[in-house]
Amino acid sequence: MKNLFVIFANLLLLLNSCAQTTPIENHTTTASSSTTNIPMKRTETEWKQQLNPEQYYILREKGTEPAFSGEFVFHKEKGVYKCAACGSELFTDDMKFPSHCGWPSFDSEITGGKIIQTEDLSHGMQRIEITCANCGGHLGHIFDDGPTATGKRYCVNSLSLSFEPANPTQNAEKSSKSEQITLGGGCFWCIEAIFEALKGVEKVESGYSGGQKAQPTYKEVCTGNTGHAEVVQVTYQPQEISLEEILEVFFTLHDPTSLNRQGADVGTQYRSAIFYHTAEQRAIAEKVIQTLNDNKVFDRPIVTELTAFDKFYKAENYHQEYFALHREEPYCKAVIQPKMDKLHKVFKEKMKSNVE
Ligand SMILES: [Zn+2]
Repeated sequence: MKNLFVIFANLLLLLNSCAQTTPIENHTTTASSSTTNIPMKRTETEWKQQLNPEQYYILREKGTEPAFSGEFVFHKEKGVYKCAACGSELFTDDMKFPSHCGWPSFDSEITGGKIIQTEDLSHGMQRIEITCANCGGHLGHIFDDGPTATGKRYCVNSLSLSFEPANPTQNAEKSSKSEQITLGGGCFWCIEAIFEALKGVEKVESGYSGGQKAQPTYKEVCTGNTGHAEVVQVTYQPQEISLEEILEVFFTLHDPTSLNRQGADVGTQYRSAIFYHTAEQRAIAEKVIQTLNDNKVFDRPIVTELTAFDKFYKAENYHQEYFALHREEPYCKAVIQPKMDKLHKVFKEKMKSNVE
C-alpha cells in the first residue's frame, strides 16, 4: 500500500494550513500597537523562567508547533482553554471544531477583547496573527475559512493553551452513551488491531456483515460466495472520538479505491465497506467520502460501499484479537505492524497510552 496518509495530509494542509494567505481586514491593529497596551509586562528573562523552552519558542518567539503534534488537536472535554502564559480565558469547548488542519481550531473567542489581531507579513505571506491581549503571547493565526456560521477559524498552537475542565459531573453525564459502526477494510485482523488502539474505542469485534448466509463460517466467507465482507464492529464513545475521526483512520489505513481487494487479499469479502447504523452516520460517511473525493486525496474515486447495517456475525473465537495474541507471526509482522507503526506516527494523540 502506498503512503496514503502523506497525500491525505499534504492535501488537507494545503487546503487548510496555518500558512495560507488570507485577506487583511479592517479590524486588525498594526504590529506596533499590539504590544504597547499589554497589561502583563515581563522581561524575556522572566518569561524564560516561567515557560518551558517549547512554550517560549511558540508564545514569545512566534513559533509554530508541527501539525498534529499538540495535545489539544483532538481534545474534546468540556471546559475552558486559557493562555498558557498568563491564564487569561480565551476559548470554551463549544467554540472548538474539528478542522483537520493539525492545530486546535475555534470558530469564535470569549468576548471582552482578550485576543488581539495583528497583520503578519512574515514568511512572504499575508496573514493575521492572534496574540493574548493580557500578556502579548503568540497564539496562532485567524482565517476566514471556518465552516460554521462565524466563518472564522482561530488556528491556535496547543502549546499556547492550557485547559481547565468543567466540573467533572458535567463531563461524566455526557459520556455515557456509546455507538457502533461496522467497517470492512480488507482482512479484519489488521483493522481490528488498529481500532483497538484508539482512545474512545470501547470494543472491537471481528466478524462478517453484508451477505445473505446466516451464521457463516470463516471458510464459507473465504469462498466469496456468501456476500459477506470481513468487518470489524467498533463500539465507541462519541464524546471521546467522533465518527469523522474513526473514518479518517479507516481511510488512511486501507485503500478505499481498489474494488474487492486489499493488497494480496482478493475477493468481495475484502471489499471496502461502511455499514451505518443510523441515518446520521450515513450522512457523516457520505460527507467524509465526498470531501476526500472532492479534494482528490486518492488518485482514483473511492469505491467504498455505503450500506445500512443489517446483521453482524461474530467471527470464530480464534479470529478475535488475532494481532494481540499472534504478534510474532509473519502475517502480523508483514501487514499489521507497519499499519500500527503508521497509526502511532500519524494519530499519536488518539492512541491509548498502553498500546505498543
Ligand atoms: Zn496571555
